[in-house]
Amino acid sequence: MGKRIVIIGGGTGGTIVANLLAQGLRTEMRRGDVTVNMLSASDKHVYQPGFMYVAFGRMQDDEIIRDQRSILDSLVNLYVDPAVKIDIEGQTVTAKSGRSFPYDYLVIATGSRIVPEEIPGLKEGAHWFYDLQGAKKLRKALKEFEGGRIVIAVGVPHKCPVAPLEVTFMIDDLFSNSHLKGKYELFYTYPIARVHALEPVAHWAVKAFERRGIQYETFFNIEKVDPEKKQLHSEEGSVIDYDLLIAIPPHKGAPLIEDSGLGADGWIPTDKHTLTMKGKENVFVVGDTTNIPISKAGSTTHFEADTAAESLICLIKEGCPGRRYDGKVFCFVETGMDKGTYVWFNYNTPPNPGEPSQMIHWFKLAYNRLYWLSARGIL
Ligand SMILES: Cc1cc2nc3c(=O)[nH]c(=O)nc-3n(C[C@H](O)[C@H](O)[C@H](O)COP(=O)(O)OP(=O)(O)OC[C@H]3O[C@@H](n4cnc5c(N)ncnc54)[C@H](O)[C@@H]3O)c2cc1C
Repeated sequence: MGKRIVIIGGGTGGTIVANLLAQGLRTEMRRGDVTVNMLSASDKHVYQPGFMYVAFGRMQDDEIIRDQRSILDSLVNLYVDPAVKIDIEGQTVTAKSGRSFPYDYLVIATGSRIVPEEIPGLKEGAHWFYDLQGAKKLRKALKEFEGGRIVIAVGVPHKCPVAPLEVTFMIDDLFSNSHLKGKYELFYTYPIARVHALEPVAHWAVKAFERRGIQYETFFNIEKVDPEKKQLHSEEGSVIDYDLLIAIPPHKGAPLIEDSGLGADGWIPTDKHTLTMKGKENVFVVGDTTNIPISKAGSTTHFEADTAAESLICLIKEGCPGRRYDGKVFCFVETGMDKGTYVWFNYNTPPNPGEPSQMIHWFKLAYNRLYWLSARGIL
C-alpha cells in the first residue's frame, strides 16, 4: 500500500502544503505510491487579509473568495467534508459524513476563529473586521460615522497582530482628509504593558500614535461592553465611552482540536522547529492552530507550510526529515491609506519597522492579488 497523507483544512496552510506535495511528489502520486486527501470545511477559499480592505470599500467579495478546487493541484483529492474526530493513536480522521480517512502522515491546518460571544456585550456593541460579514458591517458604520470617539480595543491572541494598528492608521488618514477632520478622536487599547506584543513594533507605533494625536491605554483587558451606555469596561477597572467600537474579538482554534483532546482552546502543542505535534513525528501542524509563540499570520503559515511540505517530501523520498523552521515571518504594515512599511523577523532576529513609503503600500496591494499564486505553491 502507498503512503497516505491526510490534510485537514483548506485555508492558507493546508492549500500550500497540498500543492507543494503535488509538485514534489508528482511521480509518486501519479503512480499511486502516495495519496493526498484534503478535508475541507468549505468548498470556498477565503483570502482573509482582504477583510480589512473590504471594511474600507477597497476590495470586494469576488476578489477574496475562490473555489477551493480551482486552486488545488488536480492530483490532490478534495473532500468537502469537515473532520469531526482525529484519532492520533489509531492514525485515522473521521469526517462529518461518517467516512474514515486512515493516514501515515497527517497535516493539521485548521486555523483560528473569532469567539466574540465570550465577552459579554461584544456582539451587540462592537464592530470588527475579522470576518466578511463583520467587515461589511464596519464599512457601513464608517460611511455613516458622523464624528465622536472611535475606540479600537485589542485582545490577544489574535491573528495578524499588525492589523489593529493598520486599521487605526487607515481610519485616521481617511477621516483627517474628510469633512470629519477635527470632529473625531481615536483611542486604542492593548492588554499588556505596551501597545503591541512585539516590543520594537510597540516603540514604533507609540511614536506614530503621538505624532497623530491617537490616545492609547495599555494593561486594558476587555471585560465587557455595555451597548446601551456605549461603554467599554476593562478587567483592570477602566471604563471608556465610545461612539464607534472596533474590537479584535478573542480567538480560539477549531472545535475539532479540543474535541479530539489535542490542545486547550484549540492550540496544538507543536515543536517550533520540526512543526510536528509534540510526541508525534508523523503529525505536522501548520498555521494559526500551533501553540508556537510567534505571530499568527498568513506569512508565518506560508513559511511553516514550506517547511512541513519539504519535510514530508524528504521523509517519503529519503526517509529523513527535511529543513527546520527558523520562525521566519514577513508582514506588510499599512501606515495609512496610501503608505506602508513591513516587518520581518525570526526566532533570533527582532522586527525593525522601516520608514513608510508609497512603494511598500503598492507592494502590499500587489500581494493581495499575488496571494492566489502563493496558495498554488507557485510564489
Ligand atoms: C482581517 C485579517 C487580516 C489579516 N491580515 C494579514 C496580513 O496582512 N498578513 C498576514 O500574513 N496574515 C494576515 N492575516 C492572517 C491570516 O489570514 C491567517 O493567519 C492565515 O489564514 C492562517 O492560515 P491557516 O491555514 O492556519 O488557517 P486558515 O487560512 O484560517 O484556514 C483554516 C481552514 O481550516 C478549515 N477548518 C476548520 N475546521 C475544520 C475541520 N474540522 N475540518 C476541515 N476543515 C476545517 C477552515 O474552514 C479553514 O478553511 C489576516 C487575518 C485577518 C482575519
